[in-house]
Amino acid sequence: MRVPFVAGNWKMNTTVTEAEELVYDMLDRLDRVEGVEKVLCPPFVALVSINMMLRGSSIKLGAQNMHFETLGAYTGEISPLMLGELCEFVILGHSERRWYFGETDEMINKKVKVALSHGLKPIFCVGERLEENEAGKTREVIDRQVMAALDDVSPTHDLVIAYEPVWAIGTGRAASGEQAAVTIKFIRSILAKLWNRDIAQGLRILYGGSVTSNNIAEFISQPEIDGALVGGASLKAEDFLGIVTQTAEIKYPHLPSPFKGEE
Ligand code: PEP
Repeated sequence: MRVPFVAGNWKMNTTVTEAEELVYDMLDRLDRVEGVEKVLCPPFVALVSINMMLRGSSIKLGAQNMHFETLGAYTGEISPLMLGELCEFVILGHSERRWYFGETDEMINKKVKVALSHGLKPIFCVGERLEENEAGKTREVIDRQVMAALDDVSPTHDLVIAYEPVWAIGTGRAASGEQAAVTIKFIRSILAKLWNRDIAQGLRILYGGSVTSNNIAEFISQPEIDGALVGGASLKAEDFLGIVTQTAEIKYPHLPSPFKGEE
C-alpha cells in the first residue's frame, strides 16, 4: 500500500516567530497521527528553527523551492547542499514558480535531478491552467510537464507528484474528487510508460488546489489519490490537523480514530 502523504505549503507567509507558533500549536497532535507521512514546508528563513522543533517527532520538513546549482555566484538563491542538512523534501515546479518566476520545464528537470542526487525528495507539481483545461488540453499539458521534468531521471520511489490544476490553487474552486482521480490515473499511466508499472503503482500522487478540512474526504476517498498538497489551509493548525486526521481515518477505516476519546 502507498503510505498517504499530506504536505503543507506555507508559501510566503509567516515570520519566523509566527512559523514557530504554528508548529507549536499542532506539533503534539500532528505527531500522534499514524500511518500518514506529514510534511511542513515553511519559508526558507524558518527552516533552521523548525528543523530543531521537529526533531524526535514523526513530522518531516520540506523546502518550497531550490536552485539547480549546488554553490556559487547566484545571489539570493538556496542550494540543494544547504537544504540537504535541514530537509527531506523540496517542492519543485509549483505553478507559482512556473508562472510568476518563469521556471521552465528544463529548469525543473535540472532541479529534480540535482535534488535526487543530493538525497532530497522532490514533491514535483504539475497542472494545467484554466484556458488549457477549457480547451481540452489537460492531458497534453500534464504529459509534457511530466516527460520534461523526468527526462533522463532514473526510476525512483523518492519522488512524490502533486497534481495541482492552476485554476484550483488559492481560488476556493477545487476540482472534484473524480476529476482529480482521472488525471492522477493518467499521470500513473505516463509513469508506467516512462519507467515501469511497478514504480507507477508505488509512487504517491497527491491532489492540490483549495483543499480544506471540509473537502479533503472527497479527494482522499478516491483510491488513486494518495494525499494532498495544501496551501492556505495549512496555515491554520486546526484545519491542517483536520486534513491529516481525516486522511488517516479514510485510508485506514479499520483503525481507531487518531484522536478517539479526546475533545
Ligand atoms: C498550493 O499552493 O500548492 C495549493 C494547493 O494552495 P491552496 O491549497 O491554497 O489552493
